[in-house]
Amino acid sequence: MSEGGRDRQLGMGRRITRRDFLNGVSIGVGGAVLGSKAGLFGALEGSALNTEAKAVGASGAAASDYPPALTGMRGSYDATYKYAHALRDDAFWDLAPKPSETTESYDLVVVGGGISGLAAAYFYRQKAGKNARILLLDNHDDFGGHAKRNEFTAGNRLVLSYGGAQSIESPEQYSKIAKDLLTELGIDTSVFYKAYDQKLYSNLGTAVFFDRETFGQDRMVVGLNTTPWPEFLAQAPLSAAARRDIARLYTDKKDYLPGLTREQKRAKLAKISYADFLTKTCKLTPEALPFFQTYTHDLFGVGIEAVAALSCYEAGDDYGAIEYAGFDGMDLGEREKQEPYIFHFPDGNASIARLLVRSMIPAAIPGHDMYDVVTARADYSQLDRSSSAVRIRLNSTVVKVRHDGPAASAKQVHVLYMCDGKLQGVRAGHVVMACYNMMVPYLCPELPQKQQEALKYGVKVPLVYTHVAIRNWQAFEKLGVQHIVSPGSYHCYTSLDFPVSLGEYRFPSHPDEPAVLFMLRTPCKPGLPARDQYRWGHMELYQTPYATFERNIRDQLGRMLGPQGFDPARDMAAITVNRWSHGYAYEYSTLWDPDFDSEEQPCVIGRQPFGRITIANSDAAATAYTNAAIDQAWRAVGEISSQ
Ligand SMILES: Cc1cc2nc3c(=O)[nH]c(=O)nc-3n(C[C@H](O)[C@H](O)[C@H](O)COP(=O)(O)OP(=O)(O)OC[C@H]3O[C@@H](n4cnc5c(N)ncnc54)[C@H](O)[C@@H]3O)c2cc1C
Repeated sequence: MSEGGRDRQLGMGRRITRRDFLNGVSIGVGGAVLGSKAGLFGALEGSALNTEAKAVGASGAAASDYPPALTGMRGSYDATYKYAHALRDDAFWDLAPKPSETTESYDLVVVGGGISGLAAAYFYRQKAGKNARILLLDNHDDFGGHAKRNEFTAGNRLVLSYGGAQSIESPEQYSKIAKDLLTELGIDTSVFYKAYDQKLYSNLGTAVFFDRETFGQDRMVVGLNTTPWPEFLAQAPLSAAARRDIARLYTDKKDYLPGLTREQKRAKLAKISYADFLTKTCKLTPEALPFFQTYTHDLFGVGIEAVAALSCYEAGDDYGAIEYAGFDGMDLGEREKQEPYIFHFPDGNASIARLLVRSMIPAAIPGHDMYDVVTARADYSQLDRSSSAVRIRLNSTVVKVRHDGPAASAKQVHVLYMCDGKLQGVRAGHVVMACYNMMVPYLCPELPQKQQEALKYGVKVPLVYTHVAIRNWQAFEKLGVQHIVSPGSYHCYTSLDFPVSLGEYRFPSHPDEPAVLFMLRTPCKPGLPARDQYRWGHMELYQTPYATFERNIRDQLGRMLGPQGFDPARDMAAITVNRWSHGYAYEYSTLWDPDFDSEEQPCVIGRQPFGRITIANSDAAATAYTNAAIDQAWRAVGEISSQ
């Protein structure tokens, strides 16, 4: 079939007009709810669908300028990095417009409106009082950083999902500071034991989709980790040797490093990759490696050849769907006890961001508690009002942060940012940099050289969280699966969304209802050192047009679910590709990084205060979690002197 014919079959560019599908409002499939505002910021990407511009938002009103309801390419869409990349390439200042006169001044300016920036503003306000004047600047059209909200309207109902930060992971492990913040925002994590329907999917399991490009034929095999291994593998398009070895590794409880103490085993596993552990230590045939290759993608953003075997052991299972083979008889000691993975607002940690905003600018997010925040429609016009002590200015890329005079004695900091095509300035008593670590040296060239190098050390992990609104989830019900692991496909994992009902929001709990699918893609280049793989992934993401994502999503869902009656041309309502080229904070690896003394860690050297500038963000802890973002905000605000 020709490419054009295949595209038509997949539904590329198809209009949906059926009234039962999208509240009676026609919408370009897969795409694009981007109206004039998004167009102004250059967010439109390759797909022809992006020329469609009508959609409905949470309230059923036109949603063309409501950021959470925008679909198509989201996350770091093109306009967000235009100026930052020009700065990096030393191409910004030659072309920069003349700065407008600086008339505004604040007690605190925060660069970055993610959880860390919002928490920094919150903590500063606690310290300096409610009248403290604070401005947050962020380069996106929505606040929250990775903690973004995705909204879809399908079949007369609102379906919520998350753009990035998914869940409050292990809240018992949070520091007192982070726990207290959640409590002050009104979040009671015990509520999720009831709000998260832990029974809904209990009859659904995990399947592996073997794709023809990698495994020679398309084949869905259901029952991963529940069907006995020999039986499960008998259906897989793998060689007899691969089947035999995989089954052996999962069923033998063997110590593959006999004669070593537990400490010696752990030390050895910290220095070899999981792929090497499988083939060299456990003698798995290399033919079986493609089956395991992407097991590590979700947590580490690279494949099993680039992740230490010990890190895989410590991670336990992932997605609640896969289990690492080979460790059962190794006696490697207790794993850290994991709390259930249920602490999930329907829009993920975007609810934390929204509650932070509500606490400082109540008019922006109506309501009072963790229940009503779920369906509250944000009023973006309230974010940047001169009458408010705290202001959030979106679509604003900071390009320079410089003390007015020597850092040790300056009384103010001058902050320049691009907004609406203009170079604008504000003055601040203090600045918290809650943006990406590696960006800081470009913004603050006056920082000491050693600190700049340390800030550039970590390379953020690229990853894509795609969400697809579908007409119903009958195909999953028929297959009997919640998760599909697809090690060779464009997206390596697909699952039904977390079943959480909170406040007035009801999760689509019947297979006939519209739902949102989660799909994960982690671009990387197996064989390179991890940080080079991440750099390679950044490039891949920037060079991939939206149409390529859309075509691959449709093709993959059609091949995986078509046999159960799913038609990608008919059954998909919208696609949101949350592209995070600069995703997780870089975490140090026993495989790739030196064994840093704690004070010599690049993140510690990089986060030192400099005059009136302090540094937050989860990068400053080299830890990719919300609690780290909060803890670093607390530290950065604590370092602000009171002069
Ligand atoms: C896909 C994904 C899933 C995740 N899932 C989880 C999860 O389930 N649980 C969890 O705890 N953590 C998760 N995380 C980790 C997440 O990074 C942290 O939880 C937290 O949200 C990080 O907040 P932050 O404020 O430190 O950084 P960010 O969220 O990255 O915020 C920084 C902000 O600064 C902005 N910025 C950068 N440069 C500039 C500039 N020059 N001018 C203006 N603004 C700028 C950025 O665009 C961004 O908006 C996930 C991350 C990703 C990417």
